[in-house]
Amino acid sequence: MAATIPFIDLLADRAEIGAELESAVARVVASGHYLLGPELEQFEREFADYCSTRYCVGVGSGLSAIELALQAAGIGPGDEVIVPAYTWIATWLAVTRTGATPVPVDVEQGTFNIDAAAIAAAISPQTAAIVPVHLRGEPADMDAIAALAESHGLAVVEDAAQAHGARHRGRRVGGLGSAGAFSFYPSKNLGTFGDGGAVTTDDEELAGRVRLLRNYGMKNRYEIEAAGVNSRLGELQAAILRVKLPHLDGWNAARGRLAERYRALEADTETTLPRVPSWAEPVWHLFVINRGDRDACAERLRDRGIETLVHYPLLPHLAPPYRDLGWGRGSFPAAEALADSVLSLPMYPQLGPDRCDEIAAAVAAGS
Ligand SMILES: *Cc1c(COP(=O)(O)O)cnc(C)c1O
Repeated sequence: MAATIPFIDLLADRAEIGAELESAVARVVASGHYLLGPELEQFEREFADYCSTRYCVGVGSGLSAIELALQAAGIGPGDEVIVPAYTWIATWLAVTRTGATPVPVDVEQGTFNIDAAAIAAAISPQTAAIVPVHLRGEPADMDAIAALAESHGLAVVEDAAQAHGARHRGRRVGGLGSAGAFSFYPSKNLGTFGDGGAVTTDDEELAGRVRLLRNYGMKNRYEIEAAGVNSRLGELQAAILRVKLPHLDGWNAARGRLAERYRALEADTETTLPRVPSWAEPVWHLFVINRGDRDACAERLRDRGIETLVHYPLLPHLAPPYRDLGWGRGSFPAAEALADSVLSLPMYPQLGPDRCDEIAAAVAAGS
């Protein structure tokens, strides 16, 4: 049976922007310019403005954005980079790709985000950077992280792949550390039709370095300065993002209204809702609840035609690529408890209040 309420509907925005998307695609197809052209240049300016940063450099994916930002900040073999134990594995893989070692620390169970006290305890003479993740669209504790980074001379690369537009003390993420890394994977708050990513920063040198690295390390034509990669944001992708960007704040506000509605579940004693610190303005990439009976709850919802997902059932430290780091089960109790109890409810701007209420009622009905 097809889900009657899907987890996400990537066609739901077509009534609003379908015609604009088609004309943007046609414009690029007719232009004869497909890489490193005017659409990318304009998108980079528009997204930098949106994030209130001086620079934005489009790249091929979110993973690549984190990797190239770290590399541009001078991170490489022999360095340790502090990452949250609870995140999508791409955060860790990006660190590994630079040749540095990811050093995981536990998270706060209420916010799912990296625990500043745990960061302080994990800093060693080899520590060179911190990669906080604004998970689910909720900013990490950037004041505490900035203080630690400053006192230990560490770079901070924000993994903002789930947090386009989120604010920390009124300031947009992406401009709160040395650099911000964004993903434009189709289901992100700002997504394209394929892969894409961007690095945002106020640091001119870092931006220039990412620009170099994304295109083979090539400064001028065939003049190679560094061992770069092929990780460019295409003109079609950039043109699609330019259509969507002006709608992002409205869509994030719609997500916020749905999150408010899901708060009705506060009355349900079996459900734990995410904690939002007073300084955080999240953009609700995901709405994640915790349930002791997570799998049974997901099954009940499925029986009613409501699709849910688990972000994430397997944590990076227990996944095959990181087994040789030696972190076993029990290493990060808060992260592991989350992995066993999280359930992501449907969340997309056009979901609407009625379906949201139906989902909340279905969750509570099993308690
Ligand atoms: C999606 C995501 C990434 C990776 O982005 P891609 O564009 O898929 O490479 C990195 N970190 C987090 C937290 C993500 O959600």
